Amino acid sequence: MIKALFAASDADWRTYKAALNAAFQKAELEVDLSRSHAPEEVGYIVYAPSGPLQDFSPFTNCKAVLSLWAGVEQIVGNKTLAQPLARMVDPSMAQGMMEYVVAQVLRHHLGMDRYLREQDGVWRHGEMPPVAQDSPITMLGLGELGRAAGLALASLGFPVRGWSRTKREVAGIDCYHGDDGLTAALSGTRGIVLLLPATAETENILDAETLALPDKGAFIVNPGRGTLIDDQALLAAIESGQIGGATLDVFRTEPLPKDHPYWSNPKVTVTPHIAAFTRPSSACDVIAANIRRSEAGEPLLYLVDRNRGY
Ligand code: NAP
Repeated sequence: MIKALFAASDADWRTYKAALNAAFQKAELEVDLSRSHAPEEVGYIVYAPSGPLQDFSPFTNCKAVLSLWAGVEQIVGNKTLAQPLARMVDPSMAQGMMEYVVAQVLRHHLGMDRYLREQDGVWRHGEMPPVAQDSPITMLGLGELGRAAGLALASLGFPVRGWSRTKREVAGIDCYHGDDGLTAALSGTRGIVLLLPATAETENILDAETLALPDKGAFIVNPGRGTLIDDQALLAAIESGQIGGATLDVFRTEPLPKDHPYWSNPKVTVTPHIAAFTRPSSACDVIAANIRRSEAGEPLLYLVDRNRGY
């Protein structure tokens, strides 16, 4: 019998217990899932940073740590973690992210906030709304989520540019990479969507210099991580009109402190880290698939590269 330790919050246990057991059964795996196995008996750890587990060293027979989260910045640098780490890639999460990004891009692109504000009985007909074809959108990050959202925007007619660390080819997306590629990807764009991981290299990727590159009045959508943006530089760019609006889902400190200037800035929309959730119904199949693969001697899916940090 395979012993799997569930190492996440009490609330996650209530959400995942039945769904994980159902997924194990469906995959014909005999797994004893518990929150209290003896460490040396544990074969797999189902993990989320919301739980108390910090020291992985007692789990000497653990074959893999399987994260329920897509972002791994809270575990990737853990020095006690010697076991392979797989992150969550969940088709339902990609769908959720795609919907969030499309909704926010369309809202900013069409300037819908103005009409929501102007419900005052005055008929302001005359200004022609833009069309997607004239509004290039730049995806910073062309991974599982960036690609899904970028392709959805491309299918709506937006010219989509994408930027990644290594060279990528994605049909329908104009791909750039590396430092030079960043300047080209951002120059003259109308909207920037950040779907990069939080690493030392991506910190403050949007700063005063890079925020000056897009078209004046361009918008930002950040469902990636808070560290990707230099907050003071963004507030200054909004103040000057260089950036016309921003939707931010992730922050350096979460929950975002009550007195943070983002809350009161009329050009900023704060959403409380809700862009895309791991959905138990599909995510548990991913966990089960990885245990099955590992037991069959096959390579794990979605392995994290500790050196590159994602
Ligand atoms: P992923 O598949 O690992 O893709 C990451 C992308 O970022 C890749 O294209 C990668 O380039 C690129 N990248 C990484 N470092 C870079 C660098 N230094 N320069 C340029 N590009 C770089 O990740 P994902 O599944 O799409 O998820 C992206 C992020 O979304 C997660 O890390 C997490 O922080 C965030 N997220 C947020 C929510 C939410 O609810 N707000 C939910 C889930 C995830 P390569 O293609 O060359 O590797």
